[in-house]
Amino acid sequence: MTCTRIAGGIVCTTPTFRPGDQAPSGYLAWHEWAEIQHKAGLRQKECGRCGKWKFPQQLSRQVDKREARSRKGPVLVESPVCLECVTLNAVAHRTP
Ligand SMILES: [Zn+2]
Repeated sequence: MTCTRIAGGIVCTTPTFRPGDQAPSGYLAWHEWAEIQHKAGLRQKECGRCGKWKFPQQLSRQVDKREARSRKGPVLVESPVCLECVTLNAVAHRTP
């Protein structure tokens, strides 16, 4: 909640988020933001690299594919990669 002093009092407003907005940094703001994303029908997916749950706007277009064994034989498992992991990867593979 952000409070602004005005003539004759204080006005307090809660920041409002819209579906698709990027995550805010504050803990309370994050929970409010996550609730709005959830109510809008957005669902989190688990990043295949860091294991954190991310909303679609936090995921990159990169999708990791790996083969896993199931009882029916090999299956291709696709896992999304979040923006953070894609950035980390880009830095790690940068050639001097
Ligand atoms: Zn990740």
